[in-house]
Amino acid sequence: IEPLVVEDLYYSYPDGTAALRGITLALGAGENVALVGPNGSGKSTLLLHLNGLLLPGRGRIEVGGKLLSASTLEFARRFVGLVFQNPEDQLFMPTVAEDVAFGPQNLGFKGEKLRECVRSALEQVGLEPARFLQRQSFNLSIGEKKRVALAGVLAMEPEVLVLDEPSAGLDPRSRRRLMRLLAELPQTKFVATHDLDMALETCTRTIIIDRGQVVADGPSGNILADR
Ligand code: ADP
Ligand code: ADP
Repeated sequence: IEPLVVEDLYYSYPDGTAALRGITLALGAGENVALVGPNGSGKSTLLLHLNGLLLPGRGRIEVGGKLLSASTLEFARRFVGLVFQNPEDQLFMPTVAEDVAFGPQNLGFKGEKLRECVRSALEQVGLEPARFLQRQSFNLSIGEKKRVALAGVLAMEPEVLVLDEPSAGLDPRSRRRLMRLLAELPQTKFVATHDLDMALETCTRTIIIDRGQVVADGPSGNILADR
């Protein structure tokens, strides 16, 4: 089964802005797909639907083969890990250890299982637990904050990773490191980005949206060739 399916999705904000106008797409297991489009094209609105933070005006979303609805919301939030563009939207605890533990704790992880998934997530993002567990998140560099936010999502052991502008605001070295790190993660990935080089290098497929509609979907090399 496909981990993520979106069919004819429409969404308008309460003020009437039609942000999504008939989005259809599906991600295969293990695929890395870039989502590209100008500011205001609907990328963030689409991503917020994928783990139920927004609910469709019309259309349907399937996550791990289950129709997303009030009764599958908990499953969907565990299945799809959403990493926000701004890590400060995700980090609000006094220490890195508490920030990374926050999501898995909500899922009911405790004791040794909790400690283990926190350590393992920090290792996956290249932050040595012994050096970072007791640091204060707000004191970290932007690249480190982004990695802590990603670790907090990985600690919930999602099948699909959805990332909003992961390379935004990073210096070239942190950006390269992040790209290597993403390439090593086994999850299915859906990455909204303005960074076309990153889309080309880390995503085999690219979907372009404009004004709430899919305007291109195919191999990144073809889709991004003349952009
Ligand atoms: P980006 O293009 O970097 O993803 P956005 O343009 O989507 O940034 O906007 C960032 C934030 O501002 C989001 O939280 C979004 O919900 C909010 N936002 C964007 N446009 C509007 C709007 N017209 N009215 C209210 N909030 C908005
Ligand atoms: P992107 O992430 O591609 O920049 P968004 O999904 O943030 O695009 O925005 C899509 C459209 O919805 C834009 O016209 C934006 O102004 C509008 N929008 C975004 N958030 C809000 C909001 N909270 N209230 C009203 N309009 C919004």
